[in-house]
This record gives sequence, structure tokens and C-alpha cells, in this order.
Amino acid sequence: MWDLEWVIRDFNGRVSGDGWTMEKVDIIIVGGGLAGLSCAYELSDSGMTVIVLERGDFSGSKNVTGGRIYVAPLRSYLPALWKDAPLERHVSKEILTFLGEANSTTLELYSDRLNREPYPSYTILRAKFDRWLADLVSEKGVFVIPQKKVDDLIIDNNKKVIGVRTEDEEIGADCVVAADGILSFMAEKVGFRKPFQPQHFAVGFKEVIQLDPKIIEDRFRLEEGEGAAQLFVGSLTQGMTGGGFLYTNRESLSLGIVVGIHSLNRKEPREEVYKLLDHFKERPEIKNLIKGGIPVEYSAHLITEGGIQIKPKVYGDGILVAGDAAGLGLNMLVTVRGMEYAVASGVLAGRTIKKAKGKNDFSASSLADYERFLDESFIMQEMKTYQNSLTLLENERLFSKYPQVISDLFEKVMWVDEQSKESLYKTVYEGMKENFLNLQTFRDWLQFRKM
Ligand SMILES: Cc1cc2nc3c(=O)[nH]c(=O)nc-3n(C[C@H](O)[C@H](O)[C@H](O)COP(=O)(O)OP(=O)(O)OC[C@H]3O[C@@H](n4cnc5c(N)ncnc54)[C@H](O)[C@@H]3O)c2cc1C
Repeated sequence: MWDLEWVIRDFNGRVSGDGWTMEKVDIIIVGGGLAGLSCAYELSDSGMTVIVLERGDFSGSKNVTGGRIYVAPLRSYLPALWKDAPLERHVSKEILTFLGEANSTTLELYSDRLNREPYPSYTILRAKFDRWLADLVSEKGVFVIPQKKVDDLIIDNNKKVIGVRTEDEEIGADCVVAADGILSFMAEKVGFRKPFQPQHFAVGFKEVIQLDPKIIEDRFRLEEGEGAAQLFVGSLTQGMTGGGFLYTNRESLSLGIVVGIHSLNRKEPREEVYKLLDHFKERPEIKNLIKGGIPVEYSAHLITEGGIQIKPKVYGDGILVAGDAAGLGLNMLVTVRGMEYAVASGVLAGRTIKKAKGKNDFSASSLADYERFLDESFIMQEMKTYQNSLTLLENERLFSKYPQVISDLFEKVMWVDEQSKESLYKTVYEGMKENFLNLQTFRDWLQFRKM
């Protein structure tokens, strides 16, 4: 852990202008989450003085995620990082549950491909992972300074960002990286971000529930070290856009619920959103999985759903924006993406800075390389592919009607009582005719085709 005054006194230069003078480092990264730390990692071999300012007590203390990171797209970005990274379990099982009011249907995928090294995805606890990454970049010579909140950007008369202001200091830099998360005040300050629109955000609540590893493996039918990722859609969100998640960590479960804010605002009567998680925990499908567990962490956080439609400008004179601050998040219905985008965009911001340093030019036209790097990466390619996801996410039938219908139909297929059982074909056909063969479903299907 570094003390900012010491870093500035020993490593910096000074910058001065008309009647003023300010301490200066080469690069300031605001936010010690995945985006900021990945950028710092990339810059750690650059010979530049790089500082990361993080307002939390330590990196990871304020960072919330559901908990699965796809490492496959990131291996080429930070090849040396993943071998020793404190990830939880590799995901060998994908589970999708449609929840009706009083029934549910679950699809479960086990695949050898998921269970073969190099594993495509892992569960992750950010309090552990981000802290480890911060220590690693510190060892590599970057100054990671916790408990340091940035209050403002310093912008000169030519509209160039030349530093940041904290409660008690002004620090100059050739380039500032805004990696300050979903409500980035910095992106807003430089006019890159449009004002907050509720339909572009969801709110997530999460508990980490400690449980014996053997119990986790038994309950999810996993071998030692294997993990499961389970998503839930249906009655848990009471008709609102959203869903639930459950990830198996080494010694805990991450259980949470996400609800679209616009959907929440429309709900009558008003719902105390945190209570949804309490109800969810009471469902038999969940109750038996978490039985005997001890809640050890509770968190709530906003989550980006806007995709490409809310991506702000990401570069300007003396500034780059990365991760959630740059709106780089997607809800793909069957999975939420944000962490890979944060890591990759952080690395790309770092590469842009190295190139700009080579030219000694941190103007907007030089930093525009960042936009090109992003465009060529999997991030923007996926953002374009899923550019219509927002329209689909606004369709509340996906989160209420269909999960109920699927579970009801499956229940009907399996049900036996004192009546003689009707033909399987008739049960399925009539269920399909009643619920799916209509104009509304056809329209929903057309909408889905754009996803
Ligand atoms: C409930 C939930 C579930 C999710 N599930 C998944 C998932 O399963 N998979 C996935 O890929 N993504 C998921 N996401 C999204 C993912 O967590 C984010 O996209 C990712 O954390 C973004 O990383 P980041 O580094 O950009 O931002 P953050 O992790 O938010 O980091 C920003 C950092 O900046 C610091 N900061 C902010 N303001 C200041 C300031 N003024 N001064 C100094 N420091 C500041 C903060 O303290 C924080 O440490 C989920 C998100 C939520 C909320």
C-alpha cells in the first residue's frame, strides 16, 4: 500500500501554468477495479510513473459482480495473469431454471468441453481477486493508493484534462484513465456521458453464503474443483425485467437477483427490491441449496444494460474511459457480461497510452487509437451483435409469461392422476397452441431474431 504524498514527493515532476504549479506523475488511473488494475498491469513495464487512486479501503472492497468471468477471451490480453489468479471454481455445469409461481423447469448442461483445460470460465469473488491484482501491480511498480477518492478533474483552458483533484491534493498527469465504474462522474464531467436513463440500468442484490466445499459439490453434483453457474428467470422478479443467479465458489455460494430499474419504477404496488432476494431464498429450489449456509457478505450495485446504445465517447484530450465507466456491459439474457470488457478495455487503454507516450502526444487525435482498438476487439463486435438486446429486455413477457408456460407445460406432460392420461402429442400440441401459436408470440419471436 502506498502513501500518495510519498509517491508524489519521490517520483514526480512538476507542471506549471499561468500563475500556478502542480505536482505531476505520468499517468493517473481513477478506480482500482478490474478496468483500472488491468490498465495498470499493462502499463507496469512502460517505465512511466503510474498511480491508481481507489476510494475503497482496498481494491475489491467496493466492487460487486454476480460472479462468473469468461477467461477464454482474455487469455491473449493478459497471458501471464490467469495461471496463479485466485479464481474460484471452473464452470463445468450451466444450469438455466424457468421459475413459475409454484413450479419450475431446469435445463442443465454438462459438457466435457467445459471441463477441459484451458477452462473457458470461472466463478470469482471480487473482494479476493481485485485485492490480489492490486498487490500484483504494486509489486510490478505501480502505485495503488486506496482510500483516495477523486473529487474532480482538472481541465485547462484548451479543454485538455491535465490532472485530478482529491479532497486535499491536486495532481497533474499526461493522461487520466477514468475507470471509476458505472456512474463515472469523470465521463460525465467531460461531457462524454448522457444523463442517467433508468431503462439502461438494473440494480443487483447479492449475498455470499459460506458453505462447506464438500456440501457444495454434493448438492450440485460436482467433482472437487468443478463449479456450476445457475441462472433463474421467471416469478422471482414478480413480472419485472430481470432474473437471479447462483454461482458456486470454493467455499461459498454467490446468490443474487437483478431487476431493471425502469421496470421497478413502473411496478404497482411498489416493491422493496431487497425483499425479492428474501422471497427467492424461501423458494424450495433455493432453500435446499443454501441450507446450513452462513451469509458472510451482502452487497447491492447498479449494472449496465444499455449496451452499445449508451456507450459514451471514450477518449479526449488527456483522458481515456474504460470498463463500466465506458458503458461496456451487456445483458445477453443467458449471461451477463462486464468483467471481460473491463479487463480488455483496461489493457487496450494501457496499450494506447504506451503508443501515445512513444509519440509524446496525449491529444485526442493521438488517443483516438483506443476507439480503433476497441472496435477491432471482441468487445465492440459483441456490443454490435447484441445492439438490440435492450428492446428485448423491455419485454416483460420473457420474464413472467414464458417461464410460467414452460413449467406448466412440462408439469402437464409429467402429471398422472386418477384420470387416464391423454396422448403426449395432444398435451404438447394443445399447450403450444394455447400459449405459443398466436400473434403476440410471433411478434416476440421476431424481436428475438434480432438478438
Ligand atoms: C449484481 C451484479 C452481477 C454481475 N454479474 C456479472 C457476471 O456474472 N459477469 C460479468 O462479466 N459481469 C457481471 N457484472 C458486471 C461487472 O461486475 C462489471 O461490469 C465490472 O465489475 C466492471 O468493472 P470496472 O472495473 O469497470 O468497475 P468497478 O468494478 O465498479 O470499479 C470501479 C472502481 O472505481 C472506484 N471509484 C469510483 N469512483 C471513484 C472516485 N471518485 N475516486 C476513486 N475511486 C473511485 C470504485 O470504488 C471501484 O473500485 C455484474 C454486476 C452486478 C452489479
